[in-house]
Amino acid sequence: MDTLAVCGGRFPAPDAESAPFVAGTILCREAWIREVHTQGPGAVAEETPVLDATGCVVLPGFVDVHIHGSAGVDVMDASRTGLARLSRFLARHGVTGFLPTTITAPPEALLAAVEAVARFMEAEPPGARALGVHLEGPYISPRYPGAQPVEHIRRPDPRELAALAAAGPVRLITLAPEVPGAHGLMAQALEAGIGVVIGHTAATYEEAQEAIRRGASQATHTFNAMTGLHHRRPGVVGAVLHNDAIYAQLIPDTVHVHPAAMDILARCKGPQGTLLITDAIRAAGMPPGTYELGGQEVVVSPEGVCRLPDGTLAGSIVTMDQGLRHFLAATGWPLERAWPVTSRTPAQALGMDGVIGRVAPGYRADLVLLDAHLEVVATVVGGQVVFDRRQEAG
Ligand SMILES: [Zn+2]
Repeated sequence: MDTLAVCGGRFPAPDAESAPFVAGTILCREAWIREVHTQGPGAVAEETPVLDATGCVVLPGFVDVHIHGSAGVDVMDASRTGLARLSRFLARHGVTGFLPTTITAPPEALLAAVEAVARFMEAEPPGARALGVHLEGPYISPRYPGAQPVEHIRRPDPRELAALAAAGPVRLITLAPEVPGAHGLMAQALEAGIGVVIGHTAATYEEAQEAIRRGASQATHTFNAMTGLHHRRPGVVGAVLHNDAIYAQLIPDTVHVHPAAMDILARCKGPQGTLLITDAIRAAGMPPGTYELGGQEVVVSPEGVCRLPDGTLAGSIVTMDQGLRHFLAATGWPLERAWPVTSRTPAQALGMDGVIGRVAPGYRADLVLLDAHLEVVATVVGGQVVFDRRQEAG
């Protein structure tokens, strides 16, 4: 029997919303958390392997719903071995679940990327587990492309979406709800169990509110590539800050969004409505230099800022652990309040609460151990220790 006992750490109580962390033991069997003991050490059988979490905070593993790549790999490479490399890299940064995210591209390239993720998901991952695909585009606004290649932006195409959904587990689609045909495509996506995310959008406040009424449940990298908040035209940002029915993705690299704006978002949405994403590209975890994104050149400066030749921001190289540290600095929130933004809230936004995102019996044994500086000490995916900094030292 595959078992693991995580001992000596402090973690969010299984049933508490925002309380002090509790000390205790987490017993995992196979891929699941079976027991959580917060009164005394609990009964750990002698033969059970122990993961020492003394001095650590143990959180539900990070979930990144918007990531294009890292470690030299891009999801659009459509490579199973590339995804395995990405999976290992993410585990080193505390991520246990992620949505490989596509970019606006020709139909065959999107299909190939979705198929590669489907094949990757058939086997046990070496690190973080793919939870399905996030299609970012191609049905977005040419007025707010960000770094998405404008020449491949197209009108919503129900047959293409059906083909993509048939090719693999598409979980989210980012689209512009104001473009002709978007409402029909949103209904089709929701019917197919695909979450609708609004982003790269020129929608007005009213159009964004209408999209939320029609079931859009997340906003892609809030503030970036959408209409901003003006006091007479509140825009998409205004709708996202105003409406509790939509979750706000946030890139916490302090480059895409000023820390003050990060804090404003956090105050409006709270930890239950804010989810951190990295939006990382293949340059994450790599030296500064020139990289590729969607067939375009991206230059990564020594300061770690990614731009197209025309100066447009083009994804980030932030990691989730770093992002969490930035978020705490920007908001002044203690970890006891902020921790859901990297796990429980994304899990809820994916409709996966009940499966991932809590340290509680019956949940997947996906965990991250953080030291006092919130650096990743170890990562557990499905009850398996996939990364342990202490084993690698020396
Ligand atoms: Zn984007």
